[in-house]
Amino acid sequence: MSEHQIRNYINGQWQFSPTVPRLDVHNPATAQVLAEVALSPANEVDAAAQAGHAAFLEWRRVPVAERIQPLFRLKALLEAHLDELARIVTNECGKTYAESVGEIRRGIENVEVACGAPILMQGYNNEDIARGIDEHMFRQPLGVVVAITPFNFPAMIPLWFLPYAVATGNSFILKPSERVPMASERLFELIDQAGFPPGVLQLVNGGKETVDALLDHPLIRAYSFVGSTTVARYIYRRAAENGKRAQCQGGAKNPVVIMPDAEMDMTTRIMADSAFGCAGQRCLAASVAITVGEARDAFTERIADVAASRKVGYGLDQGVEMGPVISAASKSRIEGLIEQGAREGAGVLVDGRQRAVDGFEDGYFLFPTILTDVPPEGEIARTEIFGPVLSLMHAATIEDAIQMVNARAYGNMACIFTSDGETARRFRNEAFAGNIGINIGVAAPMAFFPFSGWGESFFGDLHAQARHGVEFYTQTKVVIERWPRHWSRQF
Ligand code: NAD
Repeated sequence: MSEHQIRNYINGQWQFSPTVPRLDVHNPATAQVLAEVALSPANEVDAAAQAGHAAFLEWRRVPVAERIQPLFRLKALLEAHLDELARIVTNECGKTYAESVGEIRRGIENVEVACGAPILMQGYNNEDIARGIDEHMFRQPLGVVVAITPFNFPAMIPLWFLPYAVATGNSFILKPSERVPMASERLFELIDQAGFPPGVLQLVNGGKETVDALLDHPLIRAYSFVGSTTVARYIYRRAAENGKRAQCQGGAKNPVVIMPDAEMDMTTRIMADSAFGCAGQRCLAASVAITVGEARDAFTERIADVAASRKVGYGLDQGVEMGPVISAASKSRIEGLIEQGAREGAGVLVDGRQRAVDGFEDGYFLFPTILTDVPPEGEIARTEIFGPVLSLMHAATIEDAIQMVNARAYGNMACIFTSDGETARRFRNEAFAGNIGINIGVAAPMAFFPFSGWGESFFGDLHAQARHGVEFYTQTKVVIERWPRHWSRQF
């Protein structure tokens, strides 16, 4: 039982959902219960959809230059409350304070970019498509739109969508992960202060039943989803059946090729941050390192040292480089996958199981783990582990390495470490992934580029962020016009 019950924010009002039972929200470093969240049923979704629709009818008429003013205020509020938000993110999600600050910064960046809506949502036109006839394309908002978000970036991922949706004239409902609802609740307290009209931005907490009610509600027009591939596929399908728009980002298994000419110390440092940062719970985490030729020994030795010495602990403690995973269930799932890797023939070079953090014995900690000689045909080479586990594989040539990179269903990210421009260019051109890193470990696009997952990592066509976001949240209207005074000249 916790005294902190998470509220919904519907039509500008904070509301407690009476629904029981509620879920506990844990601090993964201590297992302490921080709050309780109710799973909102269909009638609460309906109240939000109705309020959102009423608000949309007014909001879409507000000039775009006025619509972005509350976003400027929101940016200032997020900056002012950055430290407090970062502490909330660390406490409910487990990542280190520095990682929490980083994710909030990337979220703020999206608020800034969305303030460019007056230019970003411009249409185009041609005069005289025929004599005296002009044609214009306008972008108009869709109506009520929804984002359904995962646990691993509680502050940033809602901000991949929310600012673009409202800047372009839609009303927006956030359904955050029920495992980390506290950052969203605080974000909406700031939104409340930023001065959006009631109903333009709403928060509805919940789980599958809530999502299904959102998917089937006739007043809701579009869905942005980030989470596992199974749920991404489900939401994409159900939205399509209901005739709605959807952009659904799924899971990942990101390969990184390490060439013998890579600068090995720098590569190792960057790879450790990519594989073990956020305890490996990043959709852009390096999860498979493919060493080419002589890179094998040099990289294996170094990464084993760095993994074994990484400081694991509570994310608010000084000097901690990696926090816990999100839950006890997640921890045992990851341990099971390490075991499975060993059964499939991989070596466990660094074993992060069976280790505890002093003073945090109840926390869901798993230390960095390295699997070597992971068989390419095994399950572990393809399964998203979503924990601090790096699998090592080996290729004789860059051709073989690219083949290994491309022999997978996910396409979120692929990276290469090399000092040779020609090899890098070839990789950039041939690798099957929407986000490519060249001597970069986490190729996370800035807010002014699309977050371009491919394959099983993304269902849809328009991605999150920037121009793609603006296009996703608007429908084009083409107007062809002729005015009578021209008629005499025309006929
Ligand atoms: P998840 O799929 O379990 O949950 C995501 C959201 O979907 C939550 O809001 C949850 O309430 C809802 N949900 C869960 N099960 C559902 C169901 N059966 N029906 C309807 N809705 C449901 O994902 P997660 O565990 O919170 O997040 C981790 C996953 O997210 C990983 O697979 C990771 O790769 C992925 N992810 C992807 C990206 C990306 O950009 N591609 C970014 C971050 C995370």
